[in-house]
Amino acid sequence: KVAVTSLVKSFDKLPVLRDVNLEVYAGEVVVILGPSGSGKTTLLRSLNFLEQPDSGTIRVCGHGISIARGQPLSREDKQQITQLRQKTAMVFQAFNLFPHKTALENVTEGLISVRKMEKSQAIARGRALLKQVGLAEKADSYPAKLSGGQKQRVAIARGLAMEPEVIFFDEPTSALDPELRDEVLSVMRQLAGAGMTMIVVTHELRFAREVADRVIFMEGGAIVANEKPAVFFDDGASPRIKQFLNRY
Ligand code: ATP
Repeated sequence: KVAVTSLVKSFDKLPVLRDVNLEVYAGEVVVILGPSGSGKTTLLRSLNFLEQPDSGTIRVCGHGISIARGQPLSREDKQQITQLRQKTAMVFQAFNLFPHKTALENVTEGLISVRKMEKSQAIARGRALLKQVGLAEKADSYPAKLSGGQKQRVAIARGLAMEPEVIFFDEPTSALDPELRDEVLSVMRQLAGAGMTMIVVTHELRFAREVADRVIFMEGGAIVANEKPAVFFDDGASPRIKQFLNRY
């Protein structure tokens, strides 16, 4: 479903991704862990070209783009990126909801304006999704009236509305108070259980241990471990990873 080959990215002179290779299969939940600044967010954002890599190949949901250093994207590449984005959703740490739209309008916006869905149909779908994330009664609330956990669940419902094949989560609980994290994690568990392909950058070790099919550990812009959770958290961890895990 997702394949990344030889991905390289620098910001100015700072190398942030150094030859990253990664495959994620349909239905897998892959959690990316690693210290601050190790390149986790940049990798995730590269997958749907919110960041443009310097070089490497990215293939997501059947759409492939090869980037050669110093070469602009071709028209064909840009088309591939547009199509790839239609098959993926991104959930951000900061929710990124429209403040002047209600929860329901946030969820239906893409359906109506991008997918050109009939308004009544979009509303029915939006309400069903809000129900799925436990927010049926908040449909008409504006984001300012919602808790962080509720806002993030609206953001997930908005992502689901577009029927993505893969969802990228960028530290979805990091901005939340501990007591609000579980409600977001439980929606994510539900999605994982339903077979959604998910790539999750997070510091939630328990989620990684219990829900991930694989755990990736990044350091210094490289993937230094790629293991099943049982191996990662127990016998297989290197001293460096043990040291990282002990901080939590
Ligand atoms: P964190 O856990 O703190 O979010 P991360 O592992 O996700 O860290 P990235 O956000 O990918 O790391 O950042 C990797 C490096 O790239 C950091 O040194 C960061 O300062 C730098 N960086 C990220 N985005 C930019 C940018 N837009 N411009 C310049 N430098 C950036």
